[in-house]
Amino acid sequence: MATRLLRGTLRLWGGRAAPCLPPASRCSHSGGEERLETSSAKKLTDIGTRRIFSLQHDIFRESVRKFFQEEVIPFHAEWEKAGEVSRELWEKAGKQGLLGINIADHHGGIGGDLYSSAIVWEEQAYSNCTGPGFSLHSDIVMPYITKYGSEEQIKHFIPKMVAGKCIGAIAMTEPGAGSDLQGIRTNAKKDGSDWILNGSKVFVSNGWLCDTVIVVAVTNQEAHSPAHGISLFLVENGMKGFIKGRKLDKIGIKAQDTAEFFFEDVRLPAGALLGEENKGFHYLMQELPQERLIISDTAVSASEFMFEETRDYVKQRKAFGKTVADLQTVQHKLAELKTSICVTRAFVDSCLQLHRVKRLDLATAAMAKYWASDLQNRVAYDCLQLHGGWGYMWEYPIAKAYVDARVQTIYGGTNEIMKELIAREIIHD
Ligand SMILES: Cc1cc2nc3c(=O)[nH]c(=O)nc-3n(C[C@H](O)[C@H](O)[C@H](O)COP(=O)(O)OP(=O)(O)OC[C@H]3O[C@@H](n4cnc5c(N)ncnc54)[C@H](O)[C@@H]3O)c2cc1C
Repeated sequence: MATRLLRGTLRLWGGRAAPCLPPASRCSHSGGEERLETSSAKKLTDIGTRRIFSLQHDIFRESVRKFFQEEVIPFHAEWEKAGEVSRELWEKAGKQGLLGINIADHHGGIGGDLYSSAIVWEEQAYSNCTGPGFSLHSDIVMPYITKYGSEEQIKHFIPKMVAGKCIGAIAMTEPGAGSDLQGIRTNAKKDGSDWILNGSKVFVSNGWLCDTVIVVAVTNQEAHSPAHGISLFLVENGMKGFIKGRKLDKIGIKAQDTAEFFFEDVRLPAGALLGEENKGFHYLMQELPQERLIISDTAVSASEFMFEETRDYVKQRKAFGKTVADLQTVQHKLAELKTSICVTRAFVDSCLQLHRVKRLDLATAAMAKYWASDLQNRVAYDCLQLHGGWGYMWEYPIAKAYVDARVQTIYGGTNEIMKELIAREIIHD
């Protein structure tokens, strides 16, 4: 029922074909110049701010915030111990219409716009709960299926992924190849019309719980460059020879079920190939800007969250007969942090705008990812410092935010690789 209601609401205002921002003349509160940017808002996490959003987005954001407050925050500590969130959570998110938002309704998705997807990324960051791998599932895995998959694959996977009954993952990285993806060894060889998959993958987010995983494999060893001999496959849990190894023990994002996989002569039917044979690397290059945009937006949102946590803390913490916030050095530090966060927010919002009209290029997405995730780590460092010893205690949200920030400069392509991509554009004639 909730899903249907949301789908209805989203169709009204967020359908891909229709412009998401209603003209200011129609409603003074829906989009437009009068909305405050975060720099002028009371809090960086306030609902009703930022010109890219509209009143309808605000209503949606309120419901998403409530979802994280009621269905995620109370259980997250338990999930951190378990190293995974519950399956029930995925189904609840499906019922609430939070999965596959930016997937067209004719493909079985919710049919909402990119900004609505971004609201889910941002609200998750504001909840300080990194366990649920919703953005990876909805905005990384599902688009591969709808863009490159056959009608049969779309019909088979998308509705159950939107319902949270089938969890998606993507496995590119291998123990011996991460940044250099062209160095992967996992391979699929033809056997009649089937494929036989062998190899291993590591650091797979949603890996332990996933029901389907997009596996990147070499399909032509003789190609004139490795990039021309890579294909994507949809591998399903339970297939003979598909073995999930361990849930990996990470220093942060502890409720996220990151796993390793082994493939031992997994027989895949022809219908498991995603898109065209040997086009896999090209598809990856097409989809990486969105992955990096998600990381950028979650990074700046996490920074906004940490800033507000810290502002509250220093305003009540006493030292030398006054509050820590009364100290001028602390005030200057907060001023620096707020300025950096708001400047980054402006850039990331402009990337969201560009991506909505499909104009976000690889180098610009790389700049956003590198800049915002670096900022997140600086903010985490400074905000923890402003909490003193209590900031080092797990019971304080800033401690979790600090360790969870660390991976953001690593996955989705390390920030060194981001600089490579940016530099290539600079020197390219
Ligand atoms: C928690 C977590 C979740 C992840 N989730 C997924 C997932 O779902 N799916 C998936 O496929 N992968 C995932 N990854 C993998 C992630 O994308 C890789 O770890 C990352 O791309 C780096 O690869 P690597 O670990 O092999 O490091 P390496 O490539 O070995 O890099 C080591 C160091 O060398 C530097 N370096 C390498 N090449 C260059 C260069 N050309 N110039 C300058 N410096 C360079 C790197 O920046 C890094 O500092 C995840 C990783 C983590 C930690």
